[in-house]
Amino acid sequence: MIADLRSDTLTKPTPEMREYMMDAAVGDDVFGEDPSVKALEKKCADLFGKESALFCPSGTMTNQIAMNILTRPYDEVICYEGAHIYKYEGGGLSGNSGVSSRLLAGDRGRIHAEDIEACINPDNPHYPRTSVIALENTVNKGGGCFYTMDEIQPIKQVAEKHRLNMHLDGARLFNALEETKDLPGEYGRVFNTISICLSKGLGAPVGSVLVMDKELEHAARRMRKVYGGGMRQAGFLAAAGIYALDHHVGRLKEDHQRAKSLEEILQGLSRVEKVLPVDTNIVIFSLAGKSDSGKVVAELEKNGLLAVAFGPQEIRLVTHLDFTDDHLNMAVKILKNYFK
Ligand SMILES: *Cc1c(COP(=O)(O)O)cnc(C)c1O
Repeated sequence: MIADLRSDTLTKPTPEMREYMMDAAVGDDVFGEDPSVKALEKKCADLFGKESALFCPSGTMTNQIAMNILTRPYDEVICYEGAHIYKYEGGGLSGNSGVSSRLLAGDRGRIHAEDIEACINPDNPHYPRTSVIALENTVNKGGGCFYTMDEIQPIKQVAEKHRLNMHLDGARLFNALEETKDLPGEYGRVFNTISICLSKGLGAPVGSVLVMDKELEHAARRMRKVYGGGMRQAGFLAAAGIYALDHHVGRLKEDHQRAKSLEEILQGLSRVEKVLPVDTNIVIFSLAGKSDSGKVVAELEKNGLLAVAFGPQEIRLVTHLDFTDDHLNMAVKILKNYFK
């Protein structure tokens, strides 16, 4: 047995999910003829109270499509300096859309209305045109912390005042909703576009969905084709997403509880310098005594625990559907033994 805490993308479809996938009705989705893809898109649009949704192969693609259709070349997007759209998408913002990014430090990645407003450029030919505020919820780089809807509302007010679009990278939005009990419909009202990942905590093998207003759909479908994301009998994958939304949302709480247990154990260990507060399914901790995280990760691997180096002295652990209580007990033993 191995305790694999590298990412919540590592989950494999459960036997029930596989069966559901194999039974899916399929067709050519580029021709608009895949009933399972259509059903997934409708399910997601309805959930958020929007009219349209688009199934894509990855969350990078849904984010990049959103940025492309909400901006014009030379525009500027305001986001957190560690945001996935900026830091982990290979420079796609500038390459795909020709826009610049205005980066904010935020509080563990949560950016605030006053700081955002201070970054909005005046309408003057010297400056790029500010056109989008992009938020991430939960914030990956911030250790899985979340915004509540009450914290997002003042940002929405700034967006309305300055006529800016709002995009949400909701790769782990359901993790946030599990804790805040805010409703998807409230998100639908605030954001023009919302990207959700089916292949993270929800446990589907592939796929993300971009939820959006009707008038954006045509442009979004066009850009999906441009980026090479038009898939044919994609219904097998969409069916996994439908299954995940029906069966794996309610259990995210378990992932959060297991992450909390890891946090408590790590806090008591002398070779651990600091653990970021654990709010959902991500645990980020730093090493005492200037230890090199790459080396430590390699040593943990030899003991049967897989983790990710998340900075020179930082290590990230992520709990997920395939990380059970048995894995937790094993991980706790390894961590206690190693970091004593
Ligand atoms: C994983 C992730 C994405 C999308 O990643 P893909 O691997 O392209 O599906 C987007 N945003 C955040 C915050 C993520 O963690």
